[in-house]
Amino acid sequence: MARKSKENSRINKMRTLIIKSVKKAVVATAYNSGLAKLFGSIHSSKLFCVGYHSVWSDKNKKELHRELYSNISIKVEDFEEQILFMKKNNHTFINFSDLSDPNTKKLKKATIIFFDDGFKDILVNALPILQKHNIPATVFVTTGLIERTHFLWTLKVRHIMSRSGLKNFEVEKKILELKKMSMAERDKKIKDLEKEYALQIQPEKLGIFLDWNEVNDLKNGGFEIGSHGVKHEKLIELSGNELLAELSESKKILEEKIGQPVFTVSYPYGRYNIGVEKAAQSTGYFYGMTTESGWNKIDDVLNDPYKMKRIEPNSGDKLTSFAVKLYMNI
Ligand SMILES: [Zn+2]
Repeated sequence: MARKSKENSRINKMRTLIIKSVKKAVVATAYNSGLAKLFGSIHSSKLFCVGYHSVWSDKNKKELHRELYSNISIKVEDFEEQILFMKKNNHTFINFSDLSDPNTKKLKKATIIFFDDGFKDILVNALPILQKHNIPATVFVTTGLIERTHFLWTLKVRHIMSRSGLKNFEVEKKILELKKMSMAERDKKIKDLEKEYALQIQPEKLGIFLDWNEVNDLKNGGFEIGSHGVKHEKLIELSGNELLAELSESKKILEEKIGQPVFTVSYPYGRYNIGVEKAAQSTGYFYGMTTESGWNKIDDVLNDPYKMKRIEPNSGDKLTSFAVKLYMNI
């Protein structure tokens, strides 16, 4: 039995390796042959929403505990290279507030840059690059992360397990198991882990996320501020009242704190359904961002603004992979 499962795991590893090398070859061919850029011109009338989470730098990765979220963090040099690539390839950078302008439809490669969650490194690492190149952006803020009343569970598990002596891949395996559970089941397991490893430091207090002054610094630096919920929960798993509270509370808190209307929401984990779309509309949002991968037709966004698609660069993407993802969605 053990021999069979070892064999299966070897076969799975080999399969993953083959898929990875085939993908690498396809990406290199698509980039080097100019095919990616050709596809880019085919999509030039579409809206590109390019979504990030965190942008890390060697200068501050230690104090910002990048090790807890390296899977969703892109190196600042790669980020700037991606921004410059889009600039060079005639993208027109806009923000969500520009979507209602009829002239937006005439733009070539209209592009919105945005960030989910509210990591502090957006202020210290991404903002200077965006300002240098005069590019607008949006940050979707989870208010509970800013107020230190909530924390992202994946970061919490990595933090707890850093004392377990387990190797990184074993911790990630544990996270994958937890991802398959319902929220209630998962939270119970995490509580058990907290007891097991007797944590003394509260990760909420680590200063990984922006505080309210810093959210306002982003706003003053030209960012639009959108909502990413209060507790960063899967909206589709909430009851009707909880769903409405999550959407309206985060909007209300943000508007109070930044003194501006908030009209965009990015669904945590990208999870949404018709109920979530309706709730977003009834609580006063104009646009809803999913994690579905692809471009948006501007007419589709105007007709049904609650299921916008994104292009999401991976943490390790070099320029070739980024360009192929941006223009070919692979
Ligand atoms: Zn998120």
